[in-house]
Amino acid sequence: MFKEFCEKAINTLYPDNFTCNFCGDEIFDGDDKATCENCKSNLPFCTGKICKKCGDIINNEATFCEMCKAEEKLFKFNRSVFLYDDKIANAIRDFKFDNAKYWHKCFAGYLFDAYKFYGYNCDVICYVPMHKKRQQMRGYNQSELLATRLGQLLNIPVSYENLVKAKDTKNQVDLNFKQRKENLKDAFEVLNNNEFKNKNILLIDDVYTTGSTLNNCTVALKKAGAKAVYCLTIAHAHQKN
Ligand SMILES: [Zn+2]
Ligand SMILES: [Zn+2]
Repeated sequence: MFKEFCEKAINTLYPDNFTCNFCGDEIFDGDDKATCENCKSNLPFCTGKICKKCGDIINNEATFCEMCKAEEKLFKFNRSVFLYDDKIANAIRDFKFDNAKYWHKCFAGYLFDAYKFYGYNCDVICYVPMHKKRQQMRGYNQSELLATRLGQLLNIPVSYENLVKAKDTKNQVDLNFKQRKENLKDAFEVLNNNEFKNKNILLIDDVYTTGSTLNNCTVALKKAGAKAVYCLTIAHAHQKN
C-alpha cells in the first residue's frame, strides 16, 4: 500500500511526459512518446521508398536494396521507425548504456505506431536476447524492455528467456559483414519449442545494421517451428546503395 502511494505521489510530482525526451522542452499534453511538436516534425522517420525486405530507404526504383538482393534473409521483413542519424544514435546509446530506461516508453510508442501502420499481425512478441553475462553487467536488456511495453500496448504475449543467446559473441561493431555472420553462427537457441510452434513471431531489436542478428535469431525460431518471423526495430543504419 505504502509503495503504491509513494509511486502515485512521484508520478504526480514528476509525470512521465512532462518534457520532450529529445530536446527537453516542456510538453503539455504528452503521451508515451514524449516528443514535442517541433521534434516530431524533424525526426528522421524511415518512410518513403523503402526496401520491401529490410525497410531501409532506397533512392531508386528497385524493390530490394543491394544488401537484400545479395543475400537471402529468412525473416519475412523488417521495418524500422527511424533512420539511425546522430540524434537517434545518441538516444539509443543513452537508452542502452546510460541506464536511461525511461526511453523504452517513448520508443515502444513509436514501435506501436509502426506495427499498426505496416499491418503486422503476430501471435507472440520476442526480443533479441543478450548473453547472460553481458546482461548481468548492464543490468537490463533494452530490447526486452521494448518488447514488454509493446506487449502491453498491443495486448500480445511476450516470450521471455526462451530465445536465448548461448554463445558470448564479440561486439558486432568491430566486425565486417563476413565476420559478423561467422560470429553469430549458432549463437541463438530456443529452449522450449512449444511457445513458438506454428506462431507468427514479432521480433524486436533496437538497431538494424546488416540484419545478421535478426537473421540468426530467425534461424533459431524457425528451427523451433515458428511459422514466420517479422522484425521491428527502432532505427535503421542506412547502407548506401
Ligand atoms: Zn523536442
Ligand atoms: Zn533491404
